[in-house]
Amino acid sequence: MFEELLAALGKQEKSPLTSLDLQTPGPSPRPLDVPAAARTAPPAIPNCRNMYFKDEAHKASVAAELQRQLQEWKERGQMPINLFYGVLPQQGLPVTKSTQDGKHTIIYLFDTPFAAQHVWRDWQPKPEIAGCRVGSVPMLAEKWISGGINAFSMSACGLCGPRNVFSGQSLLSIDKFTQCMGVEIVQRVFRARAQVLHAQKQAGPNPKGARASLEFLRDHLDVSNPYVHWMIAILAGMGGDMKANAESIATMEQFGPHFVGKLQGTSFDMSPGSQFATFPEAMMGLLMSYGLLKLQQNPPASSPPPASS
Ligand SMILES: [Zn+2]
Repeated sequence: MFEELLAALGKQEKSPLTSLDLQTPGPSPRPLDVPAAARTAPPAIPNCRNMYFKDEAHKASVAAELQRQLQEWKERGQMPINLFYGVLPQQGLPVTKSTQDGKHTIIYLFDTPFAAQHVWRDWQPKPEIAGCRVGSVPMLAEKWISGGINAFSMSACGLCGPRNVFSGQSLLSIDKFTQCMGVEIVQRVFRARAQVLHAQKQAGPNPKGARASLEFLRDHLDVSNPYVHWMIAILAGMGGDMKANAESIATMEQFGPHFVGKLQGTSFDMSPGSQFATFPEAMMGLLMSYGLLKLQQNPPASSPPPASS
């Protein structure tokens, strides 16, 4: 089923894009499976392009779950409105990466400007971040394709490169493009949830492990979630790493007034006003932002009716 999903997106075996040596993209439930003896070590995931399956049955169940979530994503109409990419300041050309064999030139697209900035944060000069409406992608793509771009990635990792690479032709159809975006977003959220659940489990017994799990999430999967930075700030501060604490607070505060001034002082005890006192709010925000905690004011529509006596 997973293959069908990928094949539908032009990533089947015959696709020339397999020459990019991209491994099967998707969720990595590994953080949930770390054996007890290894829990003090940071998550041993070298590369967020890799995914790990226990066996074929596990792979099939993950594929089915991803397909279900993709369908749900489409039905909810959660498509981002805007899209972002980098533009080289001198040439005015979009930032691309060519494969070693020269066959593919990939444009990097992002669904948040923050993610785009993060990927090129160490570049000199830094690319400018350009934005466009998702609806105008087919029109822009004609220009890109005539300039030699023949593939695109969504939300590439700053450390590992693109996770998913799609054919440039998919940019020309809004339906195909939406499908590609959906695949990337659904996979990303799926993997982010695994990291968050691992961090939640580890927060009490092993704050270092919790921090490592959230840092992996920040560095590889989703830099655009303020609650991730908030939680890392608290966990880093609790471990005495005040440099990381300050850096995470500075990043978190870029997300707007709601996140400014939340973390103050250098106290991590249980007293009001300490950084640790904000832990429940940060954790709740984190869980809710990935749909892991739903406030159920009304019973879900699919609830069975009460049994009649
Ligand atoms: Zn990565």
